[in-house]
Amino acid sequence: MTAFKEFAHVCSQIENTSSSLEITDMVAEFFRIVDTEELPVVIHFIMGEVFPAWSEEELGIGKGLYYTSLSKVSGLSVDEIKEIVRKTGDIGKTTIEVMKNKSGDQVTFSVFFDDNTQLSIIDVYEALKKIAAINGKGSQNIKMKNLQYIFSKASPQESQYMARLVLEELRIGVGEGIVRDAIALAFDVPAESIERGFMLTNDMGAVGLAAKKGGIEEVEKLNMELNRPIKLMLAQVTPSIKTAIEEMEEAAIEWKFDGARLQVHKDKDKVSIYSRKLENITNSLPDVVSAVKEYVNADTAILDGEAFAVDENGKPKPFQEILKRLRRKYDIEITTRDIPLTVKFFDIMYLNGDYLIDLSLIERRRLLGECVRNSNSITVDQQVVTDDPEIGEKIYSEAIRAGHEGIMIKNPQSPYTPGKRGKNWLKKKPVMETLDLVVIGGEWGYGRRTNFIGSYTLSCYDPDSGNFLPIGKVGTGITDENLVELTGLFSDLIVVESGRDLEFKPEIVFEVAFEEIQKSTNYESGYALRFPRLVSIRDDKSPHEADTISRVDEIYRSQRK
Ligand code: AMP
Repeated sequence: MTAFKEFAHVCSQIENTSSSLEITDMVAEFFRIVDTEELPVVIHFIMGEVFPAWSEEELGIGKGLYYTSLSKVSGLSVDEIKEIVRKTGDIGKTTIEVMKNKSGDQVTFSVFFDDNTQLSIIDVYEALKKIAAINGKGSQNIKMKNLQYIFSKASPQESQYMARLVLEELRIGVGEGIVRDAIALAFDVPAESIERGFMLTNDMGAVGLAAKKGGIEEVEKLNMELNRPIKLMLAQVTPSIKTAIEEMEEAAIEWKFDGARLQVHKDKDKVSIYSRKLENITNSLPDVVSAVKEYVNADTAILDGEAFAVDENGKPKPFQEILKRLRRKYDIEITTRDIPLTVKFFDIMYLNGDYLIDLSLIERRRLLGECVRNSNSITVDQQVVTDDPEIGEKIYSEAIRAGHEGIMIKNPQSPYTPGKRGKNWLKKKPVMETLDLVVIGGEWGYGRRTNFIGSYTLSCYDPDSGNFLPIGKVGTGITDENLVELTGLFSDLIVVESGRDLEFKPEIVFEVAFEEIQKSTNYESGYALRFPRLVSIRDDKSPHEADTISRVDEIYRSQRK
């Protein structure tokens, strides 16, 4: 049994060391001396986590709860504690400081300064596990009592690191890289094998344990497991669709959706969903859980896809909308109803006991198509395999027109490489230029937007004539909150109103992104913007500081090159 004191001691040594090599040595040495069952806990602790990010276990100790606990045992008020945090800038130092101020009649931390207390690493872990399991009514109070109990057994140095651990603020500078190298060093396993094990299990604790138990052989046996996310395959940017397709000779092209990445695990009746950061977000997406249960015909599977919010016609809504659904703890039913999602699956890594990542993309897609039944809420992303760059360009324009982000160009023969950003997945999206344009007109909206000004006429400035020359309209990128604010703002600037059409005093400048400038006879400037989108309101700019017609000319000409 290793004492928690030892862990605190190593942390403090690491904090006083600047060389990563020396830190790696210290960490490796510590990994070597702790008991086998302690190792996974130590690995997570040293990386500043109690449970891995993907675990459903969560401590549920926020700053508020922690300050109140400290206040209870020290007799200081929460405000006084916050003041100490402001001064020290660190919850660990604050904890020590606060405990020094402990008033005489506060006995809860009675053995606080007794260095003989032997709190083991496993004691701390077990206590935190217990705290994580406390849920429901009155849980905050019970969590607090349990917290006070373990702190009452800790010495000042221990309590300093315990506080930082509990609030996920350990920050001693030991990340995945150092831990990988330290495991490799401690148990004589190549760092690449450790890396591979980590990509597949996403759990350094599990990788370290395998290395300690059976060296390289045991590490190489590690594989993905249901209900434990694997690292995601990532994409590189490509400047040109043509070159990308030509280099691959044949490419698999898919739409790129602007939403949130989801990794979905189906384990018979249990569905778990992980975010891009591989956090467990199952509870906030009950609609996806039931759709997967209904439309994924597999006993067990691990799928990769993108979720985005859609309007009543199934059109994608701005990216911000999906953020309102993720990691939500309250009002889940209401947001699920108000912000329906669609999930597009584009890959499969595991199916009914078979590991698929070494199969080619084409093979994996075939299996994906066989096991997902398309429905309103989940579908398999369409894919076209071609060697023709023109077809690539066409799919790209269609994706943009349909309100999506661009396309993915994938190598049809490539395996799924977890955690790698390689050349097998390329992404192409428009490089958005922005222009600062003056709003000179608008239009009352339709339907849900009847009482709001839903579209705005934009103009560039012509310094020669002093006129504002129309160049297009923008209605995209305006959130509901924005709509209310903008309608209020522009109502005061209406000069002429005829039917739905409005003319405004030129006063407000919008920063607008777009995909391209086109020649147009529809607008007085002679140009139109393709796919304009409101980025921000330039409160800091006057209409005469807006972009000029010659700047528009310039961008148009540079596009032609
Ligand atoms: P980026 O976030 O710009 O690095 O682009 C990569 C991201 O695009 C992925 O992580 C996914 O979240 C998202 N994405 C959307 N559609 C696809 C698709 N068809 N294939 C792969 N990734 C996609």
